[in-house]
Amino acid sequence: MEAIPVPPPLPLKEWMPLHQGKLFIAGPCSVESRSQLATTAKEIASNGIVKVLRAGIWKPRSRPGKFEGIGEKALPWLSEISNETGMLTAVEVARPDHVHHCLKHKVDILWLGARTTVNPFMVQEIADAIKGSDVAVMIKNPVTPDLRLWIGAIERILLAGTQKIIAIHRGFYSHHQTLYRNPPLWEIPLELKKEWPFLPLICDPSHIAGNRQYLTEVAVQALQLSMDGLIIEVHHQPDKALTDPFQQLSPAELDELLHLLLSNITDAEYQQPLDHLRRKIDDNDMQLLAQLGSRMQLVQEIGVLKKKQDEAIVQPERQQQLIADRLSKARALGLRPLFVEKLFTLLHREAVTIQTKTTKGNKPDR
Ligand code: PEP
Ligand code: MN
Repeated sequence: MEAIPVPPPLPLKEWMPLHQGKLFIAGPCSVESRSQLATTAKEIASNGIVKVLRAGIWKPRSRPGKFEGIGEKALPWLSEISNETGMLTAVEVARPDHVHHCLKHKVDILWLGARTTVNPFMVQEIADAIKGSDVAVMIKNPVTPDLRLWIGAIERILLAGTQKIIAIHRGFYSHHQTLYRNPPLWEIPLELKKEWPFLPLICDPSHIAGNRQYLTEVAVQALQLSMDGLIIEVHHQPDKALTDPFQQLSPAELDELLHLLLSNITDAEYQQPLDHLRRKIDDNDMQLLAQLGSRMQLVQEIGVLKKKQDEAIVQPERQQQLIADRLSKARALGLRPLFVEKLFTLLHREAVTIQTKTTKGNKPDR
């Protein structure tokens, strides 16, 4: 059966504040208390780079009996902190009632976790719950490396009527012993990008790495593959976090990582074209110097002729004509008249020096 046509996703820059063209989202894996959220958020916001605060309040735990999130009572805290810091808010939703709570408290962005995307029934229920709202939605890849399932979830959300949509690559479960918690299998998000070039796609290096020591290399790789941004778990005291303590960064570690990443982006988007333009300037200057050399050669030959004829070296009429002519030509090239006038006055002075030396029989010192 043919796939149903879906409305196209909106380009990220049309609806999302970005930093150097990239989207940076950060915040705790789980909200644990108002003060934990407030402290973490304020520190994150102080760098001005992170535009969205992530906050897990309903936590999908593999086994029962662990901290399952603080629930909807965190939603008013989120909106207060969003007002104070200016960051937008993002919350994971796994059931329609989560969506209703979030919409009531004006959460800006909802996200579907990897354990939700895997289940089309649940994705459809969430899609039905967001219908008619203007909320943005991020969709993590399913736990299993199944691109169709990921695409299917994105299509269900697009069909619900939101075009503000972002795919999140968070790696894939493997039953082998692996270095990273969820191996990235980069070919899968790249395949998604190939099929859907305009779909905003960001990476979650925290859930891929599983340990903060591997986070930088994953984040660097994601941006090198032209992903549109990152969502990173940050806690003001990572080691004490109730969920994912090994992979969360402190706000200071986040700052360090962001500055490294941004200098890489600067390198690619600034340094390379800069080097290219500077090579062109070098080339231009070589031509300019060669032209000056040959101009002064001509000046010298004229000096020899003037000497033979006993003509005056300085001929104001010729000089005035020359300047007027060069000024009109320079204007057509967009050069500033004052600069051109100064330049040709300088050239004339040099020409007079050369011809004076020539007429005195001296070789001009070149
Ligand atoms: C999370 O972002 O906190 C989370 C539960 O992630 P994932 O759905 O990728 O496991
Ligand atoms: Mn987490």
